[in-house]
Amino acid sequence: MSVALILASKGHDVTTIQPHRTMQEAAATLAEKGIGAVIVTGGDGEVLGILSERDIVRAVGRHGVAVLQESVSKFMTSKVVTARMDEAIDTIMEQMTAGRFRHLPVIHNGRLAGVVSIGDVVKHRLDAIESEHRAMREYIASA
Ligand code: AMP
Repeated sequence: MSVALILASKGHDVTTIQPHRTMQEAAATLAEKGIGAVIVTGGDGEVLGILSERDIVRAVGRHGVAVLQESVSKFMTSKVVTARMDEAIDTIMEQMTAGRFRHLPVIHNGRLAGVVSIGDVVKHRLDAIESEHRAMREYIASA
């Protein structure tokens, strides 16, 4: 099972923000969309970084609420780990666990094609377990 399967059911929408936007604007976007991270992109849609709720909490915790007026580029993670469409779900789970992050932007043909979160992976896993159980119950009932 691959990343493409998750995106086929959740969609390819990606919430992005420009690097000069403020942390306040980023926090408002996360709250409005009910998401945990935004992808920071440049003028051509290229990925420049990622800013998650954890980055915002860390910045406010360390420097106070004044950071909310500063730019996203100052607090984003610039070295972004990305996934491919054909990557196995088990592989991206390992990447998220090893890297201690919960979001993976997906790149396809050089463009941002979606984001997979740990929540999407868990949901997918639970759905797979449920259908295995259903198949097993049906098999036992018909035996
Ligand atoms: P998260 O668990 O996604 O809220 O992120 C935890 C930390 O990892 C934050 O500092 C994020 O900026 C960073 N982060 C999140 N996703 C990625 C990623 N795909 N590649 C690199 N860093 C990430």
